[in-house]
Parts: sequence; structure tokens; C-alpha cells
Amino acid sequence: MACNSKTSENSNYVKTVEAFHQKVAEAEPGDEIVLANGVWKNAELLFQGNGTAEKAITVRAEESGKVFLQGNSNLRISGSYLVVKGLVFNNGFTPTAEVISFRKDSKTLANNCRLTECVIDGYNNPERHDTETWLAVYGKNNRVDHNHLEGKNTKGVTMIVRLNSVESQENNHRIDHNYFGPRPNLGSNGGETLRIGTSHYSLTDSKTIVEANFFDRCDGEHETISNKSCKNIYKNNVFYECRGTLTMRHGNGTLVEGNVFIGNDKPCTGGIRVINGQQTVVNNYAIGLKGNRFRGAFVIMNGVPNSTINRYHQVKDAKVTNNTFINCDNVQLCAGSDAERSAVPLNSVVADNIFYNEVKNDVFTAYDDISGIAFKNNLISPNITALTKDGFVKEKLTLSLNDKGLLVPTDKNLKVGATIPTEIATKENTGASWYSKADKKVVLSSGKTIQVKAGLNTLVEAALASQPGDVLELSSEEVYRNTKTIPVSHPLTVKASGIKKAIVLFEKKVLFEIQNHGALQLEGLTFDGKKSPDDNGNSVISTSKYSMNTNYNLFIENCDFINLDINYAFDAIRVYKNTFADTISIQNSNFKDVTGSVVALDKETDDIGIYNAEYVILKNNSFKDVGCTVLNLYRGGTDESTYGPFLELENSVFDNVGNNKRNKAKSAISLYGVQKIDVKNNIFKDSKGVDMHLVVGEPVVEVLNNNFYNSEKLNITGDQKYTVQNVWTLNPMFDGESFKLSEKSSLKNKGTNGQDLGIQ
Ligand code: CA
Repeated sequence: MACNSKTSENSNYVKTVEAFHQKVAEAEPGDEIVLANGVWKNAELLFQGNGTAEKAITVRAEESGKVFLQGNSNLRISGSYLVVKGLVFNNGFTPTAEVISFRKDSKTLANNCRLTECVIDGYNNPERHDTETWLAVYGKNNRVDHNHLEGKNTKGVTMIVRLNSVESQENNHRIDHNYFGPRPNLGSNGGETLRIGTSHYSLTDSKTIVEANFFDRCDGEHETISNKSCKNIYKNNVFYECRGTLTMRHGNGTLVEGNVFIGNDKPCTGGIRVINGQQTVVNNYAIGLKGNRFRGAFVIMNGVPNSTINRYHQVKDAKVTNNTFINCDNVQLCAGSDAERSAVPLNSVVADNIFYNEVKNDVFTAYDDISGIAFKNNLISPNITALTKDGFVKEKLTLSLNDKGLLVPTDKNLKVGATIPTEIATKENTGASWYSKADKKVVLSSGKTIQVKAGLNTLVEAALASQPGDVLELSSEEVYRNTKTIPVSHPLTVKASGIKKAIVLFEKKVLFEIQNHGALQLEGLTFDGKKSPDDNGNSVISTSKYSMNTNYNLFIENCDFINLDINYAFDAIRVYKNTFADTISIQNSNFKDVTGSVVALDKETDDIGIYNAEYVILKNNSFKDVGCTVLNLYRGGTDESTYGPFLELENSVFDNVGNNKRNKAKSAISLYGVQKIDVKNNIFKDSKGVDMHLVVGEPVVEVLNNNFYNSEKLNITGDQKYTVQNVWTLNPMFDGESFKLSEKSSLKNKGTNGQDLGIQ
């Protein structure tokens, strides 16, 4: 390539970190320093210098996308009129707290600099809960554009604008056309994608513009964006299937305009959350957002009277006009109202919006006095219950897809609702055009099917030779003996070839160990523990003992787990601290003679809102003679940044469960801080009961049609406001006494068929 030969001859073409720093020291305005294609390992680059407005100094890749910063590499930009272009950070993690920083140190910042077409992809510390930021902007007048930030798996905001000194305030940064790629659920606070400011400097003007960026499945936590400073503008961004909201957490005078939120009915997808004074929300469009509470499609919070700087400032002078919400489930006013958050919104207006949802009537929830909000001329679908007598007009609309594929009112002459900007952010017009945005995640059972002959370690060997997504098929009724642990470091399925189960024996403490990037699906297998070592702490499946920065899935279908009783504390599934499952699903399976637990998800004991699994699904199972708990699901602490855990426990039989004297939980099912609990159609016989400690947020509990025979019952404790729905029991021995709730709690004491449950 002509440009290559030119750059190779260029005296500013560098191949080493030393040569780079040498050239940086000599650089004059207008110079370009070119990094040679290839892998730069453990490269800590400091780009320090001063260009001019007309002649910047540029550092760029020889070819965009062919310079890889790996291992423990990072980049600091410091000075003025500097441009960085075309670098890729992957396969490693920063040796410092930031991957790319717009400063050398706290006194030497970057101003009028630009970071463009750079990529940070999966550049994660192995320690899940060590806090790191990928991109930190300091100084003033910097531009961050067309970058691609994907796969931040660990604690810490993906991108931060800092205001921690005068030199970084009123900064007028521009953040535009970036692609914020998928960020998985962290299962903890600290999973924000973009934060501007901190509570400490939140009453300071930032004046950052965030424009035309694409946020793609940014699911880290419930704040996709955490605005924590004054006078920022969020304009024409697209939020695609993000499990979170654009949150005006602190600071006043924010403008949120022309943004598009596409939920596609994905659970927990949110829109816009208003806190503080003088916030303007105008001309935004949202569709298919399903989040509730603080994650609603539109939320106005209650404040704390005379709030400290890090709590919730009262909403005043909010202007919410000409927004459109189609098929969104929840609009929440005075959200978070409680004894502390008692300051209701003042002097605010919600006018000329469309709230259209023909399926859900109770879209609006007001948790407190909404008289400080003037509702005017909002169009709602005829089925929706209006919040106030005036201010809402019921009208049936015809909806049709516009040229961008968004469902909008067909009537172009409507005076209410949003006008969608002619150009919205897309995957194509954001990020670096040369870097793929295709999904990298391999789906379980998407690979080839491999027949595995019965024998000694044939399963281990087949697993080691497998590729991501492969399916190992074991012969029905044949026996597979394993003297080694099977590491599961990519999505792997193991199943029986026919209707009858294949039998799997193992001689190590653990049969399957799910490691980073691993996921496991098991179907039609009998796991017999009789050959396992006579040692305590065996398990059929375990996670890595060490921190996992990737989330995993575990699906068990139609399997038997027997003779897990060689020694005490033999678990079916064992997880370790600093691991997180998106889903653990066990269905149509039998567990018999287990001295430990079936699954104990209780390893995050720091009580700071971290937990071990988001969705736990147990359906159509039989648990017989299980010494400890079938399930222990623990989410401690008072942090409100996350959604889960969610539990579905249905159609299962518990026979002699939990009676082992080593069962510290003293229950068959122990739930703590679980946010959504469904316990339906289960039979408990000669077993311990179900303990629920309801804390954090407003847990939703549905307990329906369970039979407790000669067993302990349901025991609910907790100090949080919560709703128990559809409580019903078949068993006359059940006296309902367990349901005495605290004063703050509410209870619908009707069953699904309207029967009076006679409980308080
Ligand atoms: Ca947060």
C-alpha cells in the first residue's frame, strides 16, 4: 500500500515504546507519529505535547485496527491539540485504574484533544470486582468520537467524565458517534456505561454534550448513564435493549432531547429517570420498555428534604414535553417515596406526551402527592387509567412503522408526541467503521454434534477437544467413567443419544468446572456420586474457585443426581465468590441422597449488593433426602442498583429436605434479598420450610398453591415494603401465622380465584 511505504520511510514511524516516547518528546505541531502494525505488549504510552488549533499532533495506527495494545497496556494523553486514532486494546487489562486517560497525572491534563476510532474490547481485569475505568476524560474541550467500547465485564464505569478539579469543570467536552457495545449484567453497583461527574462535584457545571451515540445492550446495572453534574446535554442517542435508564442522578439543568429507546420487550429495559432541578426531557421516543420501579420507561423520583449531596435532591421545575412512549409498561411518579425520600416533585410540567399501550392499563403509578406536577394534554390509549382527571386525553391511534422501523402514530398532524430526528444513531454510523460489531458470544448447542463412546475418560477427552457450542452425545444406558475434572471454558452441551439416560461416574471432587467463558447444558444424564472421593466438599458441577469476569449459564434438563452422599457437604452444584450466573435452570430432574445442597448461591457475603445469579429457575423437579437446602439464594446489602435475583420455583416435590444437622440455613429454601419470588404448586413433605427475608427495593412475592405436609412452612421476615400476591395454600395445617407482616408492608389477601385467605 502506498500509504504504508510512505509511513515506513517517515521518521516518525515507531516500533517500540521507547521510540514512541522519543518521537513524542521531539514532536512539533502538525507532526504525525505512526505506531507500527502488530501487537504492542505491556505498552504504557504517554502522549504528551502541545499542538495548535490549526496543527494538531497526531498519534495513529499504521493501519486502523492493526495496532493491538495487549497485556498490561494503557494510554495517557496530556497537553493540548493532540489526536489519537485507530488503536485497539484487547487481550489484557490496564496496569492502572484507567485504560485511556486524558491526563498524565492529577495536575497535567488534556485540553482540546481528540480520541477517535479507537477500540477497547473485553480488556478486563480477571478480578471481577476490582474497580477499573476504560476511558476517563479530564480537562476541557476534548472530543471522544467514533470509538468502540465493548465487553466491559468488571466493576467500574466504562467511560467517565471527571470534574474533580477546576481545570476539568465547565469542560464543554463532546462525546459523539461512539458505539457502546454489549456490557453484561454485573450483578452489582458499578456497572454504569457512562458517568459524567460524581456526587461530590455534582452541583458544578460540566456542559458536556453526549450526542448521536449508540448504546447496544448496556446491561451492567440500572444506570446506563449516570449524570452527576450540571448543564449536560444528551441528544439523539439510541439506547438499544439496555437494561437501565438515562439517570439524572445528581446535578441540575440537564437537557435530554431527541433520544430513542428501543426495548424490544426485553425484561428490565428502562428509559429516563429524573431527579434534581430544572431537568428538561423533550422529544424523546421510547418503545417496548419493560422495566419497573427505578427502571421504568419514565420515572420522576421523590427527593430527600435538605438532601446531602449524595442522596436524592428534590425534583423542581422539570419540563417533560412532546415525548412518545409506545408499549412501555411503567411510568413512575414520586418513585422511591419512603420515610427518607419524602420531598415530592415541585413546579413541574408533563405535557403533550403520548403514552400508548393497549395491553397494559396501569401504566402510571404515583407513589406520593403529584400535585406539584402539572399534567396537560397528554395523549393516552383509551384503556390506560389516567393519573389525574385533567391533563390526559384518551384517543385511539393507528400506528405504523416509519422509515427507521419504529412504530409511530400514522397521523402526521398530531400536535403531541415526539418528532423523531431524521438521522438517528445506528450500529453503522457509530464506532469505528473498520471494527466488527457482530455478536461474539457463542450460543449453547450451536456447534457440531460429536458422538462419544462409553469408557474411561472418553467424556473428558471429548470435552477437551470440543469447540465452543459443540454437543457431546453420550450413548443411552452406557457408563462413562471420569478420573479427571472436565474444565468447561466455552459453551458445551452434554446429552444422551436416546430417551434413556447415560450414566456418568467421577472420581475427582468435581466433575465439571465452569471457568471463564464457559457455559454448560446437560440433558438426559444420570450423575452417580458413588465413585467420588470420600472427602467433604464434592460437587458434580462447580464454578472456578477464582474470580470469573464472564457470566455463565447452566441449564440442566431431565437429569438424575444420585448417591451424592459419599461424605458430608456433597453438593450437586457449588459456586464460588466473584462468580455470576445469568441463568441457572434445573428442570424435570431428580435429586436423591444429597448430603449437602442442590445449589447454594450464597457466597457474596460482603452485604454490598453483590450476588451470585440473576435468574434461578427450578421447575418440575423431585428432591428426596437432601440434607441441606435445595436452594440458598442470597443478596445482601441495601444498594438499589441491580434488578435480581429472580426466582421461579414451581411444580416440585420436596421429600425429607433440609433435615441434616449441618444445614445452617435450617430451611429447605432460603431466600434473602431476592427481588422477584414465584413459589407455586410445590409439595413439601417431612421437610424444612421456605424462608424469605425481604429487603431492598420492593420485592414482589407470589406464593401460590403450595402444600406443606408435616413440614415447616413459609416464614417471611424483612423490613422492606413489599407486595405478596396470590398467597394460597391447600394444606389445612397451614395456619397463615407466618404471614404477619410489618406495618409498612402491603398484602393482597386474596387468592387467584378471589378467595379470602383470612390472613393479616
Ligand atoms: Ca450505579
